[in-house]
Amino acid sequence: VGKTYSGGVRAVKDFSLEIEDREFIVLVGPSGCGKSTTLRMIAGLEEITEGKIKIGDRVVNDLDPKDRDIAMVFQNYALYPHMTVEENIGFGLKLRGVKKAEREEKVKNAARILGISDLLGRRPRALSGGQRQRVALGRAIVRNPNVFLMDEPLSNLDAKLRVQTRAEISLLHKQLGATVIYVTHDQTEAMTMGDRLVIMDDGLIQQVDTPRNIYENPVNQFVAGFIGMPQMNFISVKTEEDVDGNLILNWKNQRIPLHPALKEHIGRYTGTDEELILGVRPEEILIFEPGKTESQTVAEGKIEIVEIMGSESIYYISADSERITARVQGAGDLKNGDKVFFTVNPKRIHLFEGKTGKNLLYTARSESENNDLPDLQ
Ligand code: ADP
Repeated sequence: VGKTYSGGVRAVKDFSLEIEDREFIVLVGPSGCGKSTTLRMIAGLEEITEGKIKIGDRVVNDLDPKDRDIAMVFQNYALYPHMTVEENIGFGLKLRGVKKAEREEKVKNAARILGISDLLGRRPRALSGGQRQRVALGRAIVRNPNVFLMDEPLSNLDAKLRVQTRAEISLLHKQLGATVIYVTHDQTEAMTMGDRLVIMDDGLIQQVDTPRNIYENPVNQFVAGFIGMPQMNFISVKTEEDVDGNLILNWKNQRIPLHPALKEHIGRYTGTDEELILGVRPEEILIFEPGKTESQTVAEGKIEIVEIMGSESIYYISADSERITARVQGAGDLKNGDKVFFTVNPKRIHLFEGKTGKNLLYTARSESENNDLPDLQ
């Protein structure tokens, strides 16, 4: 499908995706990338400019939202303030003419699943944010829809509650066995909740895959930079061949030897002026204290900032003009101003074409079982 708004904004372009029954799929990307527009087209709240949407075998392009067998949960819960929780949850059913006894049964059941049975008599203003969000979920659950559509449902909750509700929604998904399409700009939410993620930028799908594959094998530099905290390190490098014809990555005066099997993917950049970007996740930067290693692939730097998080620490290292981020387990023993040596785990590097951002090692890695590149040994 595609969507062009009346002012000419092409909000969604060539969006093509098949979602499995009972899958939890997350649309994620920066603000304005077209996530909500896509969701609203599925819901029937936005006209589709081009293409077709099918739910099951049915093309729904011209169906009213109420006939699509979907339920939507928004970030602003839109509860009716003058109604009790019970009435709020059951209101949609009442509108559809569902009988009182059946309605009560369904509301009770949803309240039990959500753990809000003792709140049924309260009005929304007497509820916390998290409880209100559950009432909104309850309203969706009683309709027993084929598909749940959720647009940033947690963004009004405080940090602690967000983490808690995140896990609850994941559990709920398993309990209900329904298909969920979930929109968020929060990569942690996406990574922790989705069976698969759809990473979007500028109206286009960049990559669709499991959280693990997206993290370990991003298709381009945008995806690599968008997913992962702290961000992946990006370092401008060149490739060259040594006298024996082996492939070497050259970063300033550091030389990182590569497995010959990678030659078919990056050999053609050797000796050219085309920019290549080495990508390394902070946990794949390996740190040595001075004098502890003799490897020729080690670079030198100075610790600029240490962030101790308890279970892990982040080191910001300056190396010549570059700033490298490293993540280590535990509290670490290094402090500001310390000199360190570091190298990278060659099995875990990424290499992007500077001009297009394309990940040149994507194919090589997707052919391996565990997303490791072939090692030199
Ligand atoms: P996201 O949900 O990823 O933040 P949206 O789908 O809301 O992105 O918006 C995608 C693009 O479409 C943005 O450039 C936005 O400004 C534009 N847009 C959204 N709604 C409208 C509208 N009703 N009219 C015109 N442009 C819109």
